[in-house]
Amino acid sequence: MSVREIVTVGHPVLREPARDVTPDELASPEIQAFIDDLIDTMRHANGAGLAANQIGEPIRIAAIEVTDNPRYPYKPRIPLTVVVNPVLEPIAGPDGAHEMVEINEGCLSVPNLRGNVMRHVDVRVRYLDRHGVAHDEVKRGLTAGTFQHELDHLDGVLFLDRVTDTTTFTTWEQFERFHRAAFVERITEFVARVGS
Ligand code: ZN
Repeated sequence: MSVREIVTVGHPVLREPARDVTPDELASPEIQAFIDDLIDTMRHANGAGLAANQIGEPIRIAAIEVTDNPRYPYKPRIPLTVVVNPVLEPIAGPDGAHEMVEINEGCLSVPNLRGNVMRHVDVRVRYLDRHGVAHDEVKRGLTAGTFQHELDHLDGVLFLDRVTDTTTFTTWEQFERFHRAAFVERITEFVARVGS
């Protein structure tokens, strides 16, 4: 297991749609070791998630985990989840509506920049875990936002592409100074309302 280099915006691999992994590949020692590296690298960088192409491999694997995260202290916890060949689909929420939420995001591949993006509040995610077992799950709220961010990576999409109001771009320093308090207040109310 080892911590790998995270590539940054401008590297072509971040813009390349990643390819599916075959069952034989997934079972191989090479891919299992790669998944261990992906998890180690995510944790080392205090990321809420990391996609395979962020460490240079254009294959459809991502790791997601939120514990007590100093980068995102308002995020509800997510147990370690490795998704392989994921498919994400927006769905209606419990009240039948397709709700969106504006989330201030950052990315390990976009150093020192944050911006606001609109995310679906309710999504269905189908994927294989690292053992090849199929999962079909519903994610909600900020957790759903984290899945959308990571799965976007596998399609070559960065959060930068989804920022519609470019005046919301900030460095992490200016976010802390001028924007953090209002965002955390709004998003804490949101998390309390939707439950995740
Ligand atoms: Zn990212």
